[in-house]
Amino acid sequence: MKKHFTTITVMALSYFISTGCALNKTSSPHVLVDTQQIVTSEISKPDCDTLVITCIDFRFVIANQDFINETLTLKDNYDHISIPGSIYSLVNPETRELLLNKFALSVNLHLIKRVVIIGHRDCGAYGGSASFGSDIAEYETLTTDLRNARELFIEKYPTLEVDIFLESLVQEGEQTRVHFEKIP
Ligand SMILES: [Zn+2]
Repeated sequence: MKKHFTTITVMALSYFISTGCALNKTSSPHVLVDTQQIVTSEISKPDCDTLVITCIDFRFVIANQDFINETLTLKDNYDHISIPGSIYSLVNPETRELLLNKFALSVNLHLIKRVVIIGHRDCGAYGGSASFGSDIAEYETLTTDLRNARELFIEKYPTLEVDIFLESLVQEGEQTRVHFEKIP
């Protein structure tokens, strides 16, 4: 299962989603879409210095956007990379180096000073919550992996500030809410 997942992860690396300040260093880019030329206005955001890493899980996409934009106040001002099983792929020796080298592009190109890593409970990369046996075991594994991922970044880029968060789905009556916890 995890071996298979690793293969998928490596393949998925070709499909990194990068948004936010990817355009920051460009002046008046011309984008061609179906023979129509769309000219965007001059974009200049010198403060784009944050890279956000999340899992691709669709259940968290909207909550992640809100959290990044509103709570972290990074709207339109960050690089974003989605990786299947974000933290699992970061700490797994088989995919770690490849990922860290890919991040070097963003870190060097946009002079990234801060990395935000958001992991989540019930992640398919770990086999879901059920594979842990208990909530506490899942929490301990995920927070340990988040801290290890933070250490890997700081080892490679000692001046980086790295913030780590764990998110969970919380059922409140009929509604499902996403809860974010900052891990010290
Ligand atoms: Zn996941």
